[in-house]
Amino acid sequence: RAKADGKGTFHFFERAMDEQLQARRALELDLRKALAEGQFELFYQPLFDLEADRVTGCEALLRWFHPERGMVSPGEFIPLAEEIGLIGALGDWVLRAACDEAARWPQHVRLAVNLSPAQFRDRRLAATVVQALAASGLAAERLELEITESVLLQDSASNMAILHDLKALGVRISMDDFGTGYSSLSYLRSFPFDKIKIDQTFVRDILDDADALAIIKAVLDLGASLGITTTAEGVESEEQLHELRRQGCGEIQGYFISRPKPAAEIAALLGVASAASRGLSEVVAFST
Ligand code: C2E
Ligand code: MG
Ligand code: MG
Ligand code: MG
Repeated sequence: RAKADGKGTFHFFERAMDEQLQARRALELDLRKALAEGQFELFYQPLFDLEADRVTGCEALLRWFHPERGMVSPGEFIPLAEEIGLIGALGDWVLRAACDEAARWPQHVRLAVNLSPAQFRDRRLAATVVQALAASGLAAERLELEITESVLLQDSASNMAILHDLKALGVRISMDDFGTGYSSLSYLRSFPFDKIKIDQTFVRDILDDADALAIIKAVLDLGASLGITTTAEGVESEEQLHELRRQGCGEIQGYFISRPKPAAEIAALLGVASAASRGLSEVVAFST
């Protein structure tokens, strides 16, 4: 009996795995068509400068509107796009579309674009960036490229060379999700980053976890000593914002300021039509 039960369990898992594999294959096929069929859209999330009291940048965040499944999150399809070799084409599209959009924003608003480690496998990455800037007319210094430390972890000599090429173009390089990896500190020494983005897991716990607060303080000090901007990601409440301001954090990003939004809504928030610049309370009121 035990044997029969064991076998039954085995077949159950086998079937479940089979279904999982098939679902993955289906998603993979859909993803291959998605770019050609125009199912991707870029949303933008404001980065708010607390001292200047205005939005000084927006991060492009990729969205896939699947005809049947609805919105699929980048956490789900970006790893898949990397695996099946689609991230190159997708990443090129993101760069071009985001630069085109940002060229319409007020001059003081920067554009942040995420780069995946897989995009560094293509030697032409810097050339693609040059093309996106040239075609859109966006000034290089208005573009911030966000990388995670996995870019420096894998094939670091070649990736480092590409990073230096990018920096030489005049674009800014940010370290995303700071604090979540293995040796974030040593990476700060290996490349002159322009910005550190403190991972949202620290910000989430800032009010109730003394350790999270201590780490945020230390990273803010570090940023100040290095003379670079430190941004807190994932700010969801006014209380978190106040604490971050108290600690001297210069820039914040998160649902409290605004969720990621379609390009047209961001253009309205930035006052593209009116050339007005909104302060904290106006931005928060606009976004909710
Ligand atoms: P990320 O670059 O660290 O982006 C921040 C993520 O946190 C975004 O998730 C954003 O929607 C979310 N977020 C922002 N504020 C809050 C908040 O207050 N609370 C919470 N809980 N979350 C907040 P999203 O859009 O799902 O993107 C996830 C990740 O996917 C990004 O993390 C980035 O690594 C990657 N990604 C997104 N777009 C692209 C892209 O165009 N290219 C590449 N290579 N990666 C991308
Ligand atoms: Mg990012
Ligand atoms: Mg992040
Ligand atoms: Mg992330």
